[in-house]
Amino acid sequence: MPGSQKAKGRVYVGNVDVAAKRAREILMKKAKVGKLVDWATAFSLWPVHLTTSCCGCEFAATWSPRFDAERYGALPWVGARQTNMILIEGTVTRKMACALRVTWEQMPYPKFAIAMGACALDGGIFYNSYNIVRPWEVIPVDVFIPGCPPRPEAVARAILELQRIIREKDLVGSWIAEGKRPDKPIVKPKEDPCAWWRG
Ligand code: SF4
Repeated sequence: MPGSQKAKGRVYVGNVDVAAKRAREILMKKAKVGKLVDWATAFSLWPVHLTTSCCGCEFAATWSPRFDAERYGALPWVGARQTNMILIEGTVTRKMACALRVTWEQMPYPKFAIAMGACALDGGIFYNSYNIVRPWEVIPVDVFIPGCPPRPEAVARAILELQRIIREKDLVGSWIAEGKRPDKPIVKPKEDPCAWWRG
C-alpha cells in the first residue's frame, strides 16, 4: 500500500470452500448485500404456472391489462428452469402431483410457491376425494389464496404478500449465505408423487 495507508479488508487463507463460505456470509449478512438481493428478487418474481383447473382463468386475468400484475415485477414464464416462483392453480390430483414435483425440481433456488383456490388449499369441492393431493404435501407453499375461484385482486395481494415475506425475513440473502432457506425445511413428500405413474 502507498505511504502509511493501511490495507483494509479481509484476507482468507486455507481451505477454499471454507473461505468462500465465510466470505459469502460476510457479504450477504454484514455488508447488507443480502438486503439488496432480497429487494431485487421480490420485484423479479417470475412464475411458471401449473394450471390444472378453472382457477387458471383467474391467473390469466391477473396478468391482463385491467389488473396488470407485471407492474409488481411478476412476469409469467413458460420454462420451469427460468422461473423462481410456481403458482398452483386449483386441484392437484394424484396424476398432477408428479408434474408438480418434477416442475418444482427443475426450478433453480431460491424459489417460492403460491397455491390458489379452495381446491389447492384442502381439496375444495373435491374434499376427501380419493384422487386429491394437497400441494403442500408435495412442495413447500409460501402463500395460500382462499376462494373459489379467487379474484385477480386476491392473486395480486398474494404476490405482494410474498414480496413482503421475502424482504422481511431476509429469505434470499440468508439462503445464499447459508445454502438453505432459514424459515422452511426442504419438503420431501412422504409418498413418491410419481408412484401413480409407475403403477
Ligand atoms: S377453487 Fe374453485 S375455481 Fe379454483 S379450481 Fe377449485 S373449483 Fe375451480
